[in-house]
Amino acid sequence: MAKNETKHEISGLGLATKAIHGSKLYAYQGPVSFPIFQTSTFRFETSEEIMKFAKGDPSVYVYTRYHNPTVHDVEEKLALMEGAEASALFSSGMAAISTALLAVTRAGEEIVSTPALYGGTYRFFRDELPKLNIGTTYVDLNRLETVQKAITEKTSVVYLETPTNPTLDIVDIAELVRQARLAEERLGKKIIIMIDNTFATILNQNPFQFGVDVIVESATKYLGGHSDVMAGAVLGSKEMIARVKTSAKYYGGCADPFAAYLLHRSLKTFQLRVERQNENAMALAQALENHEMVGRVIYPGLPSHPKHALAKKQMTGFGGMVTFEVKPTRGLTPLEAAAAVCDHLHVAVNAASLGGVETLVSIPVYTSHVFMTDDELAMNGVTKGMIRVSVGVEGIDDLIADFNQALSII
Ligand code: PLP
Repeated sequence: MAKNETKHEISGLGLATKAIHGSKLYAYQGPVSFPIFQTSTFRFETSEEIMKFAKGDPSVYVYTRYHNPTVHDVEEKLALMEGAEASALFSSGMAAISTALLAVTRAGEEIVSTPALYGGTYRFFRDELPKLNIGTTYVDLNRLETVQKAITEKTSVVYLETPTNPTLDIVDIAELVRQARLAEERLGKKIIIMIDNTFATILNQNPFQFGVDVIVESATKYLGGHSDVMAGAVLGSKEMIARVKTSAKYYGGCADPFAAYLLHRSLKTFQLRVERQNENAMALAQALENHEMVGRVIYPGLPSHPKHALAKKQMTGFGGMVTFEVKPTRGLTPLEAAAAVCDHLHVAVNAASLGGVETLVSIPVYTSHVFMTDDELAMNGVTKGMIRVSVGVEGIDDLIADFNQALSII
């Protein structure tokens, strides 16, 4: 079978099949589980090989910071799963985000972004990029017509996150892309549209379908899925990923082969896990919405969500994240009440992060949105009594009972 014929057939397969087999289908002969190449460097049979590498032959492995077969296998699998030409794997989501942005932005240029970002990304924009003379302009995610005006000659990237963290607001991806492309025409220059798709994952939202150029993702979350691996990914065109990989060589945030192996293993159950997380999140959100001690439940799948219609339009599933606010009683402040609920959960784990098979709860002002002023919290829509739940795959009755008993404390 011709090589490109095989590729063509693979690209037509379903997400779960791609996540399990990657490109190792049909005539492939080899191990069922892809091995870990746990090595920092590679032997050359003769110096001719390194000469081939120097002339640009990508099949010659040299050094793991540049490339590694285990890492490469995961990159190929992720690109197939997400419908990208290529992908680059990193040691964390932040390594992926910072490297992707720095690969395409020069000193003096600017990023236009929606607010309500993951706190680490927001603080990277606020504290690190200005050192390189790279500024950020925030647009109101409910007034996307302002995107056009915000984009100037200096803009290199339009950056967005949807659903937002932890407020689970929804940004209209198609409209944002439309506005950015209009600005592109006006300015006669290419604007790169980059989305952090960590919360939704490719199962629930395909940003490429709306014309986004680059997906960045913390693979520590749903792709890894077991709270035991740190990794990040950038996905896009071959040309874009080549630029990102060149920068990655120097910034050095390459993925470790063992982390890549764990991720490779996790991807085999990606669809099963995330489908169950979608189901559990919907059931938990409904139960919380009916609980007398709960003030507000934010879940894009609930008809009460202000952007439910938009979520239905651009998402194929509503994801595993639920955010809620408790109703404080007995003189407790909202923050004290939220902390009391988190401390009394027995099944759900009080821990930062998300996307694992175990349900995690966290208080955003202490975790993702720590070190922010009250004004910054308000801009991001984060309140002190918020609890963010990353719903896992446990039995849903156990989860609902756990939240009911913890809420009875306040
Ligand atoms: N993007 C989002 C939406 C996140 O929630 C996180 C981490 O929580 C990151 C990026 C950063 O990922 P990592 O912790 O793997 O660097």
